[in-house]
Formats: sequence, C-alpha cells, structure tokens
Amino acid sequence: MTEEKKTDFDILIIGGGPAGLTAGMYAGRGMMDALIIERGLPGGQLLNTHLIEDYPGFESVGGADLAQKMTDHAKKFGANIVMDTVDSIRRDADGNFEVATQLGVTYRAPAALITAGGLPVKLGVTGEEEFAGKGVSYCAVCDGAFFKGEVLAVVGGGDAAAEEADYLTRYAEKVYLVHRRDELRASKLLQDRVFTNPKIEVVWNKTVDEIAGTPTGVTELKLNDTVTGEKSDLPVTGVFIFVGFTPNAGLIKEHYEHDEGGYIVTDTEMLTSIPGLYAAGDLRVQLTRQITTAVGDATTAVIAIEKYLADRKQAQGVA
Ligand SMILES: Cc1cc2nc3c(=O)[nH]c(=O)nc-3n(C[C@H](O)[C@H](O)[C@H](O)COP(=O)(O)OP(=O)(O)OC[C@H]3O[C@@H](n4cnc5c(N)ncnc54)[C@H](O)[C@@H]3O)c2cc1C
Repeated sequence: MTEEKKTDFDILIIGGGPAGLTAGMYAGRGMMDALIIERGLPGGQLLNTHLIEDYPGFESVGGADLAQKMTDHAKKFGANIVMDTVDSIRRDADGNFEVATQLGVTYRAPAALITAGGLPVKLGVTGEEEFAGKGVSYCAVCDGAFFKGEVLAVVGGGDAAAEEADYLTRYAEKVYLVHRRDELRASKLLQDRVFTNPKIEVVWNKTVDEIAGTPTGVTELKLNDTVTGEKSDLPVTGVFIFVGFTPNAGLIKEHYEHDEGGYIVTDTEMLTSIPGLYAAGDLRVQLTRQITTAVGDATTAVIAIEKYLADRKQAQGVA
C-alpha cells in the first residue's frame, strides 16, 4: 500500500530563499507544521551570488555555502521542503489557503507566507549570461566592492540606475551611465546627484548590443546609437544592469494591495491585504532588498502567523 501524500499544514511557505528558509526554521522552532515549496534548490538568489560580505557573523561566505547552511538549519528544526513550482495561491470559502503546484498537488493551510522573491529584468543580449558573476551584476550594494578602482557601466535610466551609479562611484574610478534615451526617468534629486558627480558620465541614446570579454571577465560593451544607428565600443570591466525587477507575486489569484511596480504592500507584521496571507523578503514594498532584510521580515512574519493561528483557533473554539 502506498502512503498518501501529506497535504495539510499549519503554514505554507512559497519560496525557499533566505526569507523562506528563515520562516521554515522559525516555524519549526515554534512547533508549527510548515511546508516550504521551492521550485529549485533551496537558497534563492544566494545561489547566484559568488561571495557575500555583508551578512553579520560571516565576514565572507560563498552564496552557495550560506544557502546550504540556511537549508540545514531550517531542516534541523523540522521544516519540510518539497521541490515543486507553485502555480496559484487561492482562499477557500472558510478562509483557508489552497496552493496548487505544477506537479498537480494542492496543499492546504490556514495561513500562507509568500517569499517568492523576484527577478531582475535582463537585457537579453549576447554575453549577459556568459559573464553573469564575472563582470555582469544586478546588485551594486552586493558586488560594487569587488570593482575598486575599475571603470564600470550602469545600464538604465530610472531611480535604481541613477542611485546605484552614484553608489558605485565610492568604489569605481569612473561609471558610465548608459541610457537609451536623451533624458533620465529618475527623480530630480537623483538626477542632480548623477549630474554633479564628477565620476559619472552619462552616455545618452545608446542601447547595449553585446557584452564582450575574455574568459576571465568583461572588457567592453558594444553599443548602438538609438538616433544615428552608429556602433561604438565602451571599454569597461563591469556592467550593472538596472532596467527593472519583477516581483513573483502573480501567483496570488485574488486582489491584493501592491504598488505600481507590483510589490506587495504589507503592514509591520508582514500581513498583506488578504487575511492570513503574509509576505516577506524581496517581493514586498520596502526600502532595500538584502539578505538581512529578507530574514528579518520572515522572522516577524512567522511570529505574527503563530499569533494569527492561535487567535483563529480560539475564535473557532468560541463559535
Ligand atoms: C547577484 C546577486 C548578488 C547579491 N548579493 C547580495 C549580498 O552580497 N548581500 C545581500 O544582503 N544581498 C544580496 N543580494 C540580494 C539578496 O540575494 C536578496 O535580497 C535575497 O535573496 C532575498 O531573499 P528572498 O527569500 O526574499 O528571495 P529570493 O532569494 O529571490 O528567493 C525566492 C525563492 O522563491 C522561489 N520561487 C519563486 N517563484 C516560485 C514558485 N512559483 N514556486 C516555488 N518557488 C518559487 C525561487 O526559486 C527562490 O528560491 C544579491 C542578489 C543578487 C541577484
């Protein structure tokens, strides 16, 4: 006789990055029955990060190493992790969550925590994949310090591009801000910062055709002038791409409050506008997106969920 698959839990955690793994660990310690559903290997964006030098307690730790440590830690306290992709998060008439996956399973729980992160929008040009982690980056706070004294390019024209170009000048000798138009979309304040920073030169009306280099790293960008069609080369050893970030929030199949970028709005306990649905980490509206903020959010969320579940049980007992 085959054992029936367990599908009912106290909490369903969607995504097994730093936020999801932290939530699994806290839920386990709180003796709650939690399931983390992760579509790949646990670790999230840590697995795309070579070295992490700003996670307290670890002066320098490999991304994959930290991912393994967080996974082991969550499992040690009893978190269940299943490899599957979540397709939808819905609520039934009783306010319980139904989480349906690509493998055809529907998991159920009275509370759900979405920690599915998001993805930086890519340029989609030759060399972008090849040089990822070898000169191509999507995170200046994370990788800027690896480029001390070098000449870099930032691609984009919005707030993130302007802000990160300015940030990168603390390390780089020079930063080219490559933008496809003849004016920036960034706020006036950030534009002023860019224009008054002697280390930044804006390269107007250019798109990137290709990121080129040697087996060890990036050496230049091949540019196209959007007005004249003229081709040119820009010698740089690193390129930071900020052309957008898409939160993985579309899994939620009922209206939820979000900002114009699609980031989920939560209160201070990480509760979304849907009762019983919490959000933590990169996909929620917040000032910065780091490992420390993701694990902090997840901690708060699980403690809040514990209270939510206790209150709900009490209310049901009274009814
Ligand atoms: C290259 C790079 C370097 C970085 N370096 C640093 C650094 O040095 N220091 C720092 O503090 N931060 C760094 N960051 C940022 C940091 O990695 C993120 O802030 C952090 O990982 C956010 O954690 P999270 O759990 O919210 O999301 P994520 O890490 O994005 O995890 C989300 C998880 O959800 C899973 N998922 C998504 N959709 C589904 C689905 N439908 N079904 C199942 N699973 C799903 C994903 O597979 C992923 O594992 C870096 C980011 C990048 C990209």
